[in-house]
Amino acid sequence: MYAISHAASALLIKRRFPSVPLWPLLVSVQAVELLWCALVWAGVEHVSSHDHHVSLDFLPYSHSLGSGLLLAVVAAALLRLAVGSFRTARGASRTSESAGADSGGNARGASRGARAPETRLGQPGSAQPSGPGTKFRPAVLVWRVPPRTQLGVAVGLGVFSHIVLDIVQHQPDIQLLPLPFGPRMGLRLMDAPMLNLAVEMAFGALCWYVYRGSGRMLVGIVLFNLANLPAMLQLPAVVDPIVARPALLPALILAQIVVTWVFVASCARSPQGTLLAREARASHGAASD
Ligand SMILES: [Zn+2]
Repeated sequence: MYAISHAASALLIKRRFPSVPLWPLLVSVQAVELLWCALVWAGVEHVSSHDHHVSLDFLPYSHSLGSGLLLAVVAAALLRLAVGSFRTARGASRTSESAGADSGGNARGASRGARAPETRLGQPGSAQPSGPGTKFRPAVLVWRVPPRTQLGVAVGLGVFSHIVLDIVQHQPDIQLLPLPFGPRMGLRLMDAPMLNLAVEMAFGALCWYVYRGSGRMLVGIVLFNLANLPAMLQLPAVVDPIVARPALLPALILAQIVVTWVFVASCARSPQGTLLAREARASHGAASD
């Protein structure tokens, strides 16, 4: 899918894991595409052109179900280790601070240090079990992910989501495994440009709705999708320069990735812009009442 749709998918993951910062999620949903840009420039993967059409005909290492899954698992495992090490180091430093406070007769400091790890468990996104009277929520939303694993799981989902979305949109050019042969997948949405536009627009709106983003975010998502229409239609003004210089394609896609990252991040940061922010303020107000 186009860059704005991948960037919007980070909002879905953010909604499920509110305690995970947005930027790692924005990077994760485009990790596969960044790898593709590097491999095309390195001459390992390539695009081809014929009859004023550009095809992504060889991308088995960056875009395969197997490599997407592997990249997601490796990213999740590394981040799980990194978060675990960070928390252990921070816990050790707090324990030594508390011990120092104890020896100086400051009992309050010691009890604060000992309580800190437990208060983390109550953060948003730790998926508290639902009690009587709570609304029904699908299993994926109440699936409890331990706090120190949330960053890894969220980023892993982001990485793998790229392959899933691309399978819907691409021609059958996504390999099952990262090999130059074998079964290929692709539902050919890109072969029907107007349907492609409608589906990506609806997907962006769904991400916006689930995230409960601002009006500015929705307008931006719609405009970014409309700006993709000439590329979806493979108009000569868009395709011919790429046919002449294929290395231009990853450069254009990289530029789109960066612009959509900045757009989504800036809208999400808007203080009045999101219901997430309003909910956070409301819960803070309720807690202080
Ligand atoms: Zn892709």
